[in-house]
Amino acid sequence: MQLNELTIKEAQEGLRSKKFTSVELTKVCLDRIKARNKDVNAFITVCEESALEEARVADGLLSSGQDSPLTGIPFSVKDAICTAGVRSTGSAKILDNYTPPYDATVIGKIRKQGGVLVGKNNCDAFGHGASNENSMYGPVSNPHDLSKVAGGSSGGSAAAVADNMCIYSIAEDTGGSIRQPASFCGASGFRPSYGRNSRFGIMPMASSLDTVGPITKTTYDAALVMSQIAGQDILDGTTLHDSVPNYLEKINEDLSGLRVGIPKEYFELEGLDSEVKEITAKQIDKLKELGCKVEEVSLPHTKYAIAVYYILVPCEDSSNLGRLDGIRYGVRQKGKDLYDLYAGSRATGFPEEVKRRILIGTYALSAGYYDAYYKKAQTVRTLIKRDFDEVFKKVDLLITPTSPFPAFGVGEKKDDPLALYMADVMVSPAAIAGVPALSVPSGKNSAGLPVGVQIIGSRYGEEKIFRVGSKLEIIN
Ligand code: GLN
Repeated sequence: MQLNELTIKEAQEGLRSKKFTSVELTKVCLDRIKARNKDVNAFITVCEESALEEARVADGLLSSGQDSPLTGIPFSVKDAICTAGVRSTGSAKILDNYTPPYDATVIGKIRKQGGVLVGKNNCDAFGHGASNENSMYGPVSNPHDLSKVAGGSSGGSAAAVADNMCIYSIAEDTGGSIRQPASFCGASGFRPSYGRNSRFGIMPMASSLDTVGPITKTTYDAALVMSQIAGQDILDGTTLHDSVPNYLEKINEDLSGLRVGIPKEYFELEGLDSEVKEITAKQIDKLKELGCKVEEVSLPHTKYAIAVYYILVPCEDSSNLGRLDGIRYGVRQKGKDLYDLYAGSRATGFPEEVKRRILIGTYALSAGYYDAYYKKAQTVRTLIKRDFDEVFKKVDLLITPTSPFPAFGVGEKKDDPLALYMADVMVSPAAIAGVPALSVPSGKNSAGLPVGVQIIGSRYGEEKIFRVGSKLEIIN
């Protein structure tokens, strides 16, 4: 096995027992990026020199016994997350020249303990998309079949982990952007409860849904990264005050007696691929064998999730993206007057999908339409959230497919925004409700494409998700 194929747990053991150094491990990852990135396009920026320097520092920490769990482990970061001194474009040309002066809180926590940042991952611009084709730096290809998409919006992060270009990645999930690409690429993708991790330094998309979390090779690694990045942050007033549970302590506990719900609405959706359904059913059988009590449950407002999501998100988007105007940061186009400067900077700096969301959001928030769209969507959001509150009185976890279908062809849905919005049908409800969810690799379909199964937990109920994920995952 090559060093770049290791999990965090294995790399940590190897580093601590001096089987190899962080410099050696980092070099192997950088070589893999060099060999593969031209085909996969998972990275916009590669930090070759600084990564090797950080690895040398990490080796020093390891040899003097001052290491922490992520010391010396090469990781990558979605480009919509700020990294001090490293260009962060959000995959949009308006930030083509933007280098943040600070780290997002979660990234700062990793870098302070000697994590090695190998580069910044391609994504859909500012997180808008489900196929990574809305990047102004080209689409990301699925490492299992280069003619297929990697999923989105964190397609670069998922592809980089699945293709062993790094050991893990930090990404962002507003409505599925960690879980869906993880499922398409055969990685583990974890969206934490809203408020568990700080959003400070994440380029905001829809602030009431945005979360940041890990894409890893195993559930264990996701739990390990979460234990290092979670917690209250004075720079994000929505973070939870409570201390972070020890996610690794109970990860191996057996599952007997755990109550698992199968939400029938997810399986009645039109367009659910038969192999995805079969693979999910096999995972449900496995849970029964492991002693879980499985029962059918209902989340009656599931059918409204996509409509609610695609009203609320553009509304918040249209406000959040207002800061990108060519004045404060990024690329400024010349104009004959101020209006011209704004219009030119935004017209050339945003891809089509971002413009579409800004227009929809501005429309839905305008006087006369606000009550009909925004207020209505907020009301239905409460009903969707209430569905989850009710169901978690009866069961501990829910199991669903992560995506109704496996990775589709590059270009296949590009000109049909509505078809792409439907790709979020399984992942947006948990985001709307603010509850945590994990996509676990669950094998491959007959075409050799990975399929993920989603485990949804109650708010702040991350521990149980990790316990189940580590038993269900099928790594290949
Ligand atoms: N597909 C969703 C969207 O385009 C995912 C967004 C996200 O989670 N960042 O809005």
